[in-house]
Amino acid sequence: LSEDGKYYILNGEKMFITNAGWASSFIVYAKVNGEDFTGFIVEKDFPGVSTGKEEKKMGAHGSSTRPVILEDAKVPVENVLFEVGKGHKIAFNILNIGRWKLGAASVGGCKGCVREAVKYANGRIQFKAPISSFGMIKTKLANMAVKTYMSDSVMYRLAGMFDNKLGTLDAEAKKSGAENAKAIEEYAAECSISKVYGSEALDYCVDEYVQILGGYGFCSEYPAERYYRDSRINRIWEGTNEINRMLIPGTILGRAMKGKLNLLPAAQAIAGFLMGYSPLAVQLPDTPLAQQEHMVKMSKKMALMIAGVAAQKFGTGLTKEQEVLGKIADIIMEVFAMESGLLRTLKMINNQGEEKAKYQIAAVKCYVDDMIPQLEMWAKQVVAYVEKGDMLRTQLAGVKKLARYQPIDAVTLKREIADRIIDLEAYPF
Ligand SMILES: Cc1cc2nc3c(=O)[nH]c(=O)nc-3n(C[C@H](O)[C@H](O)[C@H](O)COP(=O)(O)OP(=O)(O)OC[C@H]3O[C@@H](n4cnc5c(N)ncnc54)[C@H](O)[C@@H]3O)c2cc1C
Repeated sequence: LSEDGKYYILNGEKMFITNAGWASSFIVYAKVNGEDFTGFIVEKDFPGVSTGKEEKKMGAHGSSTRPVILEDAKVPVENVLFEVGKGHKIAFNILNIGRWKLGAASVGGCKGCVREAVKYANGRIQFKAPISSFGMIKTKLANMAVKTYMSDSVMYRLAGMFDNKLGTLDAEAKKSGAENAKAIEEYAAECSISKVYGSEALDYCVDEYVQILGGYGFCSEYPAERYYRDSRINRIWEGTNEINRMLIPGTILGRAMKGKLNLLPAAQAIAGFLMGYSPLAVQLPDTPLAQQEHMVKMSKKMALMIAGVAAQKFGTGLTKEQEVLGKIADIIMEVFAMESGLLRTLKMINNQGEEKAKYQIAAVKCYVDDMIPQLEMWAKQVVAYVEKGDMLRTQLAGVKKLARYQPIDAVTLKREIADRIIDLEAYPF
């Protein structure tokens, strides 16, 4: 604070500030008296504020990226954002919403990839046929669209969760930024899922888009090359995907340890469930997604079981077991994605009938079919690290039972989805 008490004097430098080249003000977080983490609105023309050299980047060339430099920058006390010492509340909550928005924006990119890739594939003739008629290209188109559908469903689902939660606030609370932020914070883990899942779905789609274009995918004459470069930053900013992966189980287990979530008793109950569970004896109803509904339910149990096994073994030391946390995050994230696509499709069947939801049903079937063996493998890898001897054998048998699944004919379903994309020359759902 300046001697007259009118200004905070800020010093420091922050790399990589998006649009610093043309921003007229910056939100800066700094410690007051070396302790109180505080937000400030800093205008570019304040004395002591400058920006450094423009970064030369791989992509996102439409944006400016520069360091912001504060050298005895004089910031009026009224420019404190919220309250001194409460900057973390703003920073973390901005990140929550930012992560969800990044995921949602990535879905737009994914849809663009499907559309542009199929247009090219329909026009490119090789061996006297459009390349879109080849099975391997069809698989790529279908996989891109299916992943996009799951990502889209994750984003809509979380938007619905926000809406529902914010709808419970009374009129006074609705006007309070702090109350809104507190409501959103409840979904911090889902925000991280949106960020990681959305950015990786996009990277998957841009990679296949490049591949479908062959040599032209690598040349800047076609947009695929730019999509490929522009997509890459999404796994890095808003908290890298590694940091967000740790936050997914970290947030959930942290709540459980504080007694806010009944996670550990629920995880322990799975041992009892497994004793009486016989996958072959399960009678499924005659509904279009009965098997997928059942497998999503079993996958949730698998996620709980694995989180419980790891939490029991390591306790608070689990934060140091990043390899385990990463796999638990992947399991939770994929279960959330499968369930999001499933719930959305069930709603569609309910509202519009099975025929109208035909391709969405196929998408959910294909995705669940791809994911169950993957989830089983991750779960077994965690168990193999955590347990030994008899416990290892018991837990592996438990995972195997939960993942017991009758594969479907995904080749035919993916061909049907691809044919729809090829006919429409667009994202098909
Ligand atoms: C184009 C661009 C624009 C940006 N815009 C902004 C902006 O507007 N505002 C802003 O504040 N920031 C911005 N950033 C910064 C961005 O958020 C960071 O670059 C990002 O969070 C990663 O931090 P880092 O670069 O220091 O990488 P590091 O922290 O050095 O990470 C390097 C690698 O190590 C991994 N790693 C780091 N710590 C751990 C750990 N504990 N456990 C496991 N792995 C770990 C990371 O995941 C990563 O893979 C921008 C960056 C870029 C490139």
